[in-house]
Amino acid sequence: MLPEIDIADGEVAVWWIGQAGFYLLTSDRKKILIDPYLSDSIGEATDGEYARLYPPPVAPDALDPDVVLLTHDHPDHLNEPTLEFVISDESVKFAGPSDCCAHLSELGVPQPRMVELGVSDEFSVGGTRIKAIPAFGIGSAIHLGYEITCAGGVRLYHTGDTDLDAKLLDDAPRNPDAVFVCINGKWQNMDVESAAELAVSINAAAAVPMHHDLFAKNSADADDFRRALQSRGREEIFLPLEIMVPYIFSRRQGELR
Ligand SMILES: [Zn+2]
Repeated sequence: MLPEIDIADGEVAVWWIGQAGFYLLTSDRKKILIDPYLSDSIGEATDGEYARLYPPPVAPDALDPDVVLLTHDHPDHLNEPTLEFVISDESVKFAGPSDCCAHLSELGVPQPRMVELGVSDEFSVGGTRIKAIPAFGIGSAIHLGYEITCAGGVRLYHTGDTDLDAKLLDDAPRNPDAVFVCINGKWQNMDVESAAELAVSINAAAAVPMHHDLFAKNSADADDFRRALQSRGREEIFLPLEIMVPYIFSRRQGELR
């Protein structure tokens, strides 16, 4: 298990577990696991071409989520070896687009443990509200992002894997306390420039780069993302998280919503 940490009302602790994976602990002690990739199954399937650059920073069974939130059915997001341990735990629920739910069903997750989400659908985990946001990723998988309004009010936006589509600019949440944004610039995902454009356009209070750290052939330099924010006059929102180092978000002061 992760160490217990103190968080006050209205705060949320966030651990980045690499790639698009995050683990959230809300102030009402609910745990939300997003897109965990904690195996090297893609490296094994590609003869090392997409081997992970560092070992899984935490064992899957050290996490005890209430819900696993999935953005789309690609193996670096819905990763079978990583999910094995939670699939066998009947207390864990899953939420994601319909093709993720179909995949989970094949893996033995019964229907009552799944929440199927389409764009704009919402559901709650304790006092936390999760809303599906459109995402425009590569291939035929259904892609979603998520707006997560945590118990106490901190509002986080996870983009999922997406291009900077005009509809994304229309529909992305405004004024989030943080955006977790893909910056790898490959496989149709935003590069550092479009990721900075999105973060600035939606007036994010913090911009956390993700999905750039795990594979040599699918990486980007977070410092280039900092420079892209700097060129737009918003360097101060750059917030690179360290793997497995908890970061406490609180609601930004005095913000009218
Ligand atoms: Zn991905």
